[in-house]
Amino acid sequence: MRRVSDLVMKSPVRAALDWLDGHVEDAVADAVTVCEIPAPTFHEKQRAAWVAERFAALGLADVAMDEIGNVYGRRPGAARAPSILLAAHTDTVFPAGTAIQVRRAEGRLYGPGLIDNSIAVASLLALARALDATQVKTKGDVWLVATVGEEGLGNLRGIRAVVERLGERVAAVVAVEGQGLGKVYNRSIGSRRYQITVRAPGGHSWGAFGNRSAVHELFKLGAAIAALDVPTAPKVTYNIGVVGGGTSVNSIAEEAYCLLDMRSGDAGALDDLEARVMGLVQQANEVDDVSVTPTLIGDRPAGFMVEDAPLIQACFEALTLIGAEAAGHAIKLTEGSTDANIPMSLGIPSTCIALTTGGGTHTLGEYMDVDPVRLGLRQLLLVTLAVVDVA
Ligand SMILES: [Zn+2]
Repeated sequence: MRRVSDLVMKSPVRAALDWLDGHVEDAVADAVTVCEIPAPTFHEKQRAAWVAERFAALGLADVAMDEIGNVYGRRPGAARAPSILLAAHTDTVFPAGTAIQVRRAEGRLYGPGLIDNSIAVASLLALARALDATQVKTKGDVWLVATVGEEGLGNLRGIRAVVERLGERVAAVVAVEGQGLGKVYNRSIGSRRYQITVRAPGGHSWGAFGNRSAVHELFKLGAAIAALDVPTAPKVTYNIGVVGGGTSVNSIAEEAYCLLDMRSGDAGALDDLEARVMGLVQQANEVDDVSVTPTLIGDRPAGFMVEDAPLIQACFEALTLIGAEAAGHAIKLTEGSTDANIPMSLGIPSTCIALTTGGGTHTLGEYMDVDPVRLGLRQLLLVTLAVVDVA
């Protein structure tokens, strides 16, 4: 790992940083283009095709799209040296048919999916262009990857395939996100999600009164889950986010279900909560005439990087050198659920860095602050070069 303070003394690196400063609006324009191509999770192909075209136009090596829609490109290094993999997810939480038009107002750009994660996809292109325009030769390879399936039930399927394909060839994985400039991820929040389905005899609400109801049994189970005490350090959470079932107001329900989300940054604590919930499910299942079936619908592993890991330190150093703190972006460790979960859980040095600030993420009112993008791009360049070094 190269010290960021050494890198910024080198004139090609300074030239690349200056080049980025002068091309922030190009990156923002690319982000708008990306944002306006719909890409709900599991339907990222159109956006992925756009990225693949850009990767090819940049002259990257090994440009490819795998069968699930991850797009790969490699900017070759000059030597056998540690390589980096930068991953930005293409998918959004917005369903097909969502009206997406980006508008600018007072230094902000409004658009669903713009900060999460179109600007990050655009930043990969900006980085490659900056290195090319200023003829920066790196020692190690820079892999640029646009991933699918980061959001919701995508369950990180994109990055899982990417790490399977390239995990052994890279020394570090950095997930790139739009939101949260100044934060350095060293802990991945693991999550486990279940659909819990209850079946019971049901019947006419008057004539068959006394028969077991799937809805009533589900409510009892839900109440027992909601009464669980969980630790606050490490933080452990649960949420029943969706319930459904039954056929009519005057029918005893034959079937009902809920969706349950459980999270922690601590793998053991998450396992404990899951075991307690499964104990309650087991009890509910022992009631006569009732069947309760838990189906795992999401599983994101937890992971952890020590604070003095070289990659984490490089992120701190880059943020300090670009003046993030002075610009109002507090530099601090954080935790989250990102593409970095997968490599981190496997022990590959990894983190997630963010390009700017904004708000309303995952809502139609999502917006991105334009000004900080300049700092975000500088950070991305410096962290990348810290890993791959300059030839
Ligand atoms: Zn995201």
